Amino acid sequence: MAKNKVKHKTSYAAPQRLNEVESERSHKWLSFIFDAYYTADEGIYEAMESEMKKGFRLACSKGCSACCKTHVTIPVYPLELMGIYWFMMCRVSPNNSEIILHQLMHFFPGKGCPYLVEGACGIHSVRPLACRFFNVFTKPCEENEDPYYSRRRDVWTPDEKLKNKAVSKMLPYYGFTQRSERREAMKAGYMIRFVKNMQDINWPSIASRLKNRDWGPIEKDFHP
Ligand code: SF4
Ligand code: SF4
Repeated sequence: MAKNKVKHKTSYAAPQRLNEVESERSHKWLSFIFDAYYTADEGIYEAMESEMKKGFRLACSKGCSACCKTHVTIPVYPLELMGIYWFMMCRVSPNNSEIILHQLMHFFPGKGCPYLVEGACGIHSVRPLACRFFNVFTKPCEENEDPYYSRRRDVWTPDEKLKNKAVSKMLPYYGFTQRSERREAMKAGYMIRFVKNMQDINWPSIASRLKNRDWGPIEKDFHP
């Protein structure tokens, strides 16, 4: 961790669970994703508060987005992709929708994240767990800098238990409803098989579906 400790207020707001009663009724899987995000956000919030008390300065803030252009291996779960699809269908602003759809249509692997809009995440409330867990201290990343390699000690290391707890909230979608079942499934690495890379998604095809307002079974697009 950085020796240069500077007192600084964390930019993290106290987390709140997303609450979309109608959508969660229509799409039961949405609740599992919201639970996963809330679990992650609560843990991250507590960790950041703790780091701040120790004097560490969180560099991440709105408008800081070099990471979204540099990182080309962002792991994402199918349910998260479905959540993004829902957001694009139901909650994205018209301006962001137009920009993101254009970026999705013209996306190719190696390009930055297609959900970045004018330096900010265009899907912030449903951004993937990997984005939530990536937090950098001390100073913002330079363009093209991956601090994981250039200054590893400034990159926050999330607790594995917290990551697993958040991911396990998606298990009811796969039939693991009991806590003991979820615990065993996580131990057995059940969820790992589903992980995809954001860059490997056929975004132009997804953009076409979004443009057609296609609510056909999207599970098949995102599950192996
Ligand atoms: S990871 Fe780096 S570029 Fe991304 S928000 Fe944090 S400081 Fe900014
Ligand atoms: S989903 Fe949002 S936070 Fe994550 S890489 Fe894309 S623009 Fe950045």
